[in-house]
Amino acid sequence: MITKSAYEMSAAMAAGETSSVALTQAHLDRISAVDQHVHAFLHVDTEGALAQAKAVDDARARGEKVGPLAGVPLALKDVMVQQGIPTTCGSKILEGWRPPYDATVVTKLKNAGVVILGKTNMDEFAMGSSTENSAYGPTHNPWDLTRIPGGSGGGSSASLAAFEAPLAIGTDTGGSIRQPAAVTGTVGVKPTYGGVSRYGLIAFSSSLDQAGPCARTVLDTALLHEVIAGHDGKDATSINAPVPQVVKAARDGNVKGMKIGFVKELNGDGYQPGVRSRFEESLELLAKAGAEIVEVSCPNFEYALAAYYLIAPSECSSNLARFDAMRYGIRVGDSDGASAESVMNLTRQVGFGREVKRRIILGTYALSSGYYDAYYGSAQKVRTLIMQDFTKAFTSADVLVSPTCPTTAFKIGEKANDPLAMYLNDIATIPVNMAGIGGMSLPCGLAPEDNLPVGFQIMAPAMQDQRMYTVGAALEAALLDQWGAPLLSRIPALAGTQ
Ligand code: GLN
Repeated sequence: MITKSAYEMSAAMAAGETSSVALTQAHLDRISAVDQHVHAFLHVDTEGALAQAKAVDDARARGEKVGPLAGVPLALKDVMVQQGIPTTCGSKILEGWRPPYDATVVTKLKNAGVVILGKTNMDEFAMGSSTENSAYGPTHNPWDLTRIPGGSGGGSSASLAAFEAPLAIGTDTGGSIRQPAAVTGTVGVKPTYGGVSRYGLIAFSSSLDQAGPCARTVLDTALLHEVIAGHDGKDATSINAPVPQVVKAARDGNVKGMKIGFVKELNGDGYQPGVRSRFEESLELLAKAGAEIVEVSCPNFEYALAAYYLIAPSECSSNLARFDAMRYGIRVGDSDGASAESVMNLTRQVGFGREVKRRIILGTYALSSGYYDAYYGSAQKVRTLIMQDFTKAFTSADVLVSPTCPTTAFKIGEKANDPLAMYLNDIATIPVNMAGIGGMSLPCGLAPEDNLPVGFQIMAPAMQDQRMYTVGAALEAALLDQWGAPLLSRIPALAGTQ
């Protein structure tokens, strides 16, 4: 049962073939068996999950109507607060903190009867592309345990690929849902900015952060999207409009007459040959399914990465000021007579890792007087240019597409000492965040040179998220036809654990 989709699990529960308690226990057993190798989880809430599962089973037994994902287990990225459950954001500075409230996404999951198994590993404060920046050690890619699962939400995506959970929540500031999805052969969606509440999401770069759904199929991702999306008065940037009908789109999956624009600048030199060939074959499949493929140009995307690495660190330097040893987590050097300033300094010195410190320093510099206009101001102007590129491109195409990442999963440690090489992973995902639009990654095959998953990215205009699901479902169906079984059925056994 654990290799089924969330939709199938839900149907099996409705038909009385299994219960949520049985399903939850099966996933907890799977976590016990494999997570010592994968390290997708930072915390497993065995008791809480089984209690939630029992509550759903009881409601069903009473004949109450339950939602489409009720009783299905889920893995929650540790960037999201859940009342009473240890929440670290991958950082030592928050060790031991148990939040006093639920994020809006968590409230919605609970109301929908989704069973939260535990918190997943991530790069510290969501800064990274490999989950190696977690203070609690890296997560391993289930396709090859010596490789990274992507980041920052590597734990969430790895838990899906390892069949430890059928659903997961991620967050995407520059690609942290889509890039891990791509390198683990799973599906991930960054909704339109403002489509899902940020209340209770530990802030990294507030103008870019967005939570979203992760799963193994496009339909499961859509079902989860509808559970977590919608207006929230507790988030000032939340959009007050109906949620796009993503489930309907995922079910229809009809691309006849749609115009799909491939972005010339996001598929050139620097992209692994096997990534390019799988991407191009997928375009042919979409053409066969009735879509018209057009080429579009977004010349300012070239500057997206540089602008992102000014805007994100600037906002992070301000957001992370709240970790001051007074309110949450650890406190270092608090002896008699120690000044508040020295306690703050020592705590931040010990509590933050190298990458987080690098970003705080870069961001503080970019915002400092005399440099603000040259750095932060210029980056904001680039952001406008990127938005204009998208607006223009969307006049000739309904969605835009590209490979999600330039390469497949690299080896753990390979780029750990080269921040620039690490940052380049996000070259194709960052423009979406800069413009506040939606982006999806779904698996489109294995690269012939290394047999590792390749991600196909679909981008849609703001609040047109359903278009990504239409195209994603069409491609998924065409690929399934070709493969005969889902890509993840080809995953090598996890080092003697299956
Ligand atoms: N990898 C990017 C970074 O390091 C994006 C992270 C994210 O989306 N949270 O900032």
